[in-house]
Amino acid sequence: MTLTLTDVTLTYPDGDARLTALDRVSLEVPAGTLTAVVGPSGSGKSSLLAVAATLVAPDRGRVVVAGTETTGLSRAEQAALRRERIGVVFQQPNLLPSLTAVEQVQVMAHLSGIRPRAARGRAEELLDAVGLSGQADRRPHQLSGGQRQRVNIARALMNEPAVLLVDEPTSALDHERGAAVLGLLLALTRERATATVLVTHDRTHPDRADTTVTMEDGRLTAGGRTA
Ligand code: ADP
Ligand code: MG
Repeated sequence: MTLTLTDVTLTYPDGDARLTALDRVSLEVPAGTLTAVVGPSGSGKSSLLAVAATLVAPDRGRVVVAGTETTGLSRAEQAALRRERIGVVFQQPNLLPSLTAVEQVQVMAHLSGIRPRAARGRAEELLDAVGLSGQADRRPHQLSGGQRQRVNIARALMNEPAVLLVDEPTSALDHERGAAVLGLLLALTRERATATVLVTHDRTHPDRADTTVTMEDGRLTAGGRTA
């Protein structure tokens, strides 16, 4: 299963005119691979993820998530697709302050329709997978920035997504912790066969991605590899 964007254009209202956030963007991400999208702030990276996540409808173009063309779906159908097939890791973890790490992951089960009894075990497995088995009972203030980001990633995997969309997960981390999070995302992509898109403005991280593309002024160009 793959993620495919074909000729996607997205504009936002900008006074009397329209601002083109995505300009005929095409991208194919096969299952089990990670594509890094590198570009400066304001180039359209988050917009790309929002369209891929069906959170924002493009003006034109096709988005196919795990075999389903998303742009023709109703809002309710898109919401169901997000629950079942898409994992999103936002830049800021937005963890709930009163919940422990394992509870943060577990609550996602309600949205994904996983039975509560199964959810606890699955949340524990996911925390193991992201290297946090010893921190399951800690609350966010007892975790480092890198550990919080790992909880964030575990949470996005609760519904066994086909497509994993990750927005600048390393921007608040130092280089070493950022590299560790990237390594983790690569390993999870392989193990769980997700079609993963990682966007970042940091050119130093994605040298281990399967594919690196560059975003500039809403346009995607192949290459951009710095390694
Ligand atoms: P990046 O994630 O690369 O920083 P964004 O996708 O957030 O870029 O933004 C791309 C462009 O679209 C920027 O010029 C930004 O100001 C604009 N933009 C983003 N979201 C909105 C919105 N909801 N309404 C209007 N303009 C937006
Ligand atoms: Mg952004």
